[in-house]
Amino acid sequence: MSYDNNNIFAKILRGEIPCKKIYEDEFVLSFHDISPQKKIHALVIPKGKYIDLDDFNNKASPEEIVGFFKGVSKVASKLGISINEGNGYRTLSNIGENGGQEVPHLHFHLFGGEKIGKMVE
Ligand code: 5GP
Repeated sequence: MSYDNNNIFAKILRGEIPCKKIYEDEFVLSFHDISPQKKIHALVIPKGKYIDLDDFNNKASPEEIVGFFKGVSKVASKLGISINEGNGYRTLSNIGENGGQEVPHLHFHLFGGEKIGKMVE
C-alpha cells in the first residue's frame, strides 16, 4: 500500500483544510480531533508521509522518530494532561483494518481531562 496524498491529514498538513492547532514543530503537528471521544482528544501526526506506526518505524530517520515521540510528550504537557502537569492520559494509534484506522497517515490519539475507562471494548 502506498501513501495517499489526498488523505485528510495530508490536506491539513498542506493547509488546505483548517484544524484547531495545539502544537507544531519541524517534526509534528498536533490538533484537536474533530469528533472528540473524551474531554480532551488530541491528535499528533508526523510531518512526513507515513501511513502508520510500522511504516514510520521502517522508513523514518532516527531524528524523525525521536522528534515525533518527543512531540507527543510536548503536546501532553501543553494540554496539562501529563503526570507532571495533570492527572495522566491515554495514547493510542490504530493500525490498519483490524486496528480500526480510518485516516491513512500515522497519528497518535491523546485522551485526557477525565478518567478514560476500559482499555478496549
Ligand atoms: P483513526 O480511526 O484513523 O485512528 O482516527 C481518525 C481520527 O481522525 C478520528 O478520531 C476522527 O474523528 C478524526 N478526524 C477525521 N477527519 C478529521 C478532520 O477533518 N479534522 C480533525 N481535526 N479530525 C478528523
